[in-house]
Parts: sequence; C-alpha cells; structure tokens
Amino acid sequence: MTDADLLLRLGIDPATLDPAPEPKRGPDRVGLDPVPCVLCGAPARFTRIVALDGGPCWLDRCCPCFLATVDLQPSRMPVSVDGIVADLRAAMAAVTDRGAG
Ligand SMILES: [Zn+2]
Repeated sequence: MTDADLLLRLGIDPATLDPAPEPKRGPDRVGLDPVPCVLCGAPARFTRIVALDGGPCWLDRCCPCFLATVDLQPSRMPVSVDGIVADLRAAMAAVTDRGAG
C-alpha cells in the first residue's frame, strides 16, 4: 500500500493536506498549538509526511483517529519471505567479507 492508497482508504482528498516542503520535526507540528486532525478536526497528536505525486504533505491525526487507522499505513517491513531472506543473505555477505579482509 502506498501513501496515496492510504489517503484513498481514509477518504482524504490529498489537495486538502498541508504541503511539507522541508523536513520539519513532527513534535513542532503537534505540540502546544497542534493542527486539526484531517479526519475529525480534533487537535492532532500524530503526524507523518506522506509521499504524493504532488509532493510531500502532512497527514495529521488525533489519537483516536490514529489508532483507528494505523493498520492501514504502508508497512516498512519486508513484504515477503523472499525479501527477508535477501536481507539476511546481504547481511551475511557483509559479515563474511569483513571477516576475510
Ligand atoms: Zn481525529
């Protein structure tokens, strides 16, 4: 699932999200003066940058909305056993190369 898929599943129009032009720390955005949750308007407590065709944007969610939708987020984990095996092989090759040198 991509970030665009995530927004589609959440029913969020990407055009309504604030652009995230430069790396900005999430705590600054959800700190003392948090922006509204894009789903319900409550103060956002979780934010992340989503990569969209039009450029990176902020996806700001309150705690209940985050917990209700976190399982829809794109996974950072390997998506297949083949991917895990490839990662292990690469790590093993790196260790073997270091040991031989
Ligand atoms: Zn919310």
